Amino acid sequence: MSQVKKLRDEAFHRQGGLCWYCGRPMSAASDKRSNRRTAEHLLAQCDGGEDVADNIVAACWLCNTRRHTSKTPLSPQAYQDYVRQRLARGNWFNPKGGVVMSRSGSTAQPALARLVIAAQAGGVDGFPV
Ligand SMILES: [Zn+2]
Repeated sequence: MSQVKKLRDEAFHRQGGLCWYCGRPMSAASDKRSNRRTAEHLLAQCDGGEDVADNIVAACWLCNTRRHTSKTPLSPQAYQDYVRQRLARGNWFNPKGGVVMSRSGSTAQPALARLVIAAQAGGVDGFPV
């Protein structure tokens, strides 16, 4: 087993099997489930992050992948906050246990922004601003 996988599994156990970002249980199986555990470097390897226990957490595949699809990935702490906020609003996983695939909320947020702008202009009655 590679050093990274060993550290990932240590982090998995240290975290009680919960994703470092979304806090949901991860799968220990090596299949294609979206909640399978992956190693996440807190400081990315390209930024000099090393394969050491302090720098590796276990994150589910979904959270890990989404973080890295962003053009300018958030810091791990900021991304954790972002994931938890989306979870609280119910738009990280869909109710059937699948995933809500939108890149960084890019489909929902412009619509909301337009509503806010319209509400501020007095164009939408009763919309809470
Ligand atoms: Zn996760």
